[in-house]
Amino acid sequence: MDFVYAANPSRVVFGTGTIERLGDEAERLGLERLLIVSTADQTDQAHLVASQLGARAAEMFANAVMHTPVEVTERAMSVVGDARVDGIVAVGGGSAIGLGKALAMRTDLPQIAVPTTYAGSEMTPILGETKDGAKVTQSDSRVLPEVVVYDVDLTLSLPPRLSGTSGLNAIAHAVEALYARDRNPIVSLMALEGIGALTQALPGIMDNPDDRGARAKALYGAWLCGTCLGAVGMAIHHKLCHTLGGSFNLPHSETHTIVLPHALAYNLPAVPEVKAQLEGVLGPDPARALYELAGTVGAARGLKDLGMLGTAINEATERALANPYWNPRALESAPICALITRAWNGEPPQ
Ligand code: NAD
Repeated sequence: MDFVYAANPSRVVFGTGTIERLGDEAERLGLERLLIVSTADQTDQAHLVASQLGARAAEMFANAVMHTPVEVTERAMSVVGDARVDGIVAVGGGSAIGLGKALAMRTDLPQIAVPTTYAGSEMTPILGETKDGAKVTQSDSRVLPEVVVYDVDLTLSLPPRLSGTSGLNAIAHAVEALYARDRNPIVSLMALEGIGALTQALPGIMDNPDDRGARAKALYGAWLCGTCLGAVGMAIHHKLCHTLGGSFNLPHSETHTIVLPHALAYNLPAVPEVKAQLEGVLGPDPARALYELAGTVGAARGLKDLGMLGTAINEATERALANPYWNPRALESAPICALITRAWNGEPPQ
């Protein structure tokens, strides 16, 4: 065994009703004038956060959107300057947390992230921003939130189907961590635990979205999977989703959910030891199990259902192969085109 393990420094507060501890967390960091960021859909939760922070809540910016467009960040930057804030609280999914990270990148202000989906961005030093339609990703330690407050209560309102696709988005981080070039035993432990927690929790959330036990398990799994994403490199699945999302403007978690079984089926023959690990959690056919789980959560089946045109499959294949990157199985045009075609049709993985 030969590996390097590096942990990202961040403090995690996990539980139910934990936003009541936001004031204490801000005090620990010495912050007195916080900017609260959210999407327009989550203004209520942003107000809830503000009420917890009391006089420490200086300003609110509730215009975060998917893929962190630079124009939105620039508008938020003017609020940062005008309100002379000394820290950022991002409440929401990857969109709100992405904006908080973009502000931290430009200002080095401390961040408290309050995640309400399972996307996992809060655990990574990665920032993806879009400018003129192109998405550029960078990794920088300034971007990693100082504190993450996971409050199970804030996830109860995440609609069941979105909970399902967001959970599968998290599982995708853990699956690729298992066969990452820089994988290591600790990250693999977290990955398997995270996949297990989410696969158990998601059907329960479909049955009863208010089931706090299932919600807690899903959020716990999401934390672990997000940690995996922040710790090791990703491969073909994330590359494909990045390409498809950026080039064809497809929704983030739904795209991950559709592509994951196919990307895993592509890679498994090259990583028999990972196949054995996943069989322990997902059963004898891990790729098929993830396809079935996507069905259980009522996710869209094929990329065509997300609005991608069939004529774009060749372009997607070319783009996926344009900048070579590491993957456990060699990247070949014909099998990748077949993979995307099956994902487009919504067929089971092969
Ligand atoms: P999102 O943040 O856009 O949330 C989807 C929708 O659900 C939004 O309208 C949001 O307001 C709403 N929502 C979120 N939580 C809710 C709740 N608890 N109750 C009710 N509504 C709720 O989507 P996402 O999938 O969390 O994040 C996607 C974005 O995050 C993408 O831009 C993606 O690139 C980015 N991302 C980045 C990283 C990273 O490490 N940099 C990791 C994962 C995702």
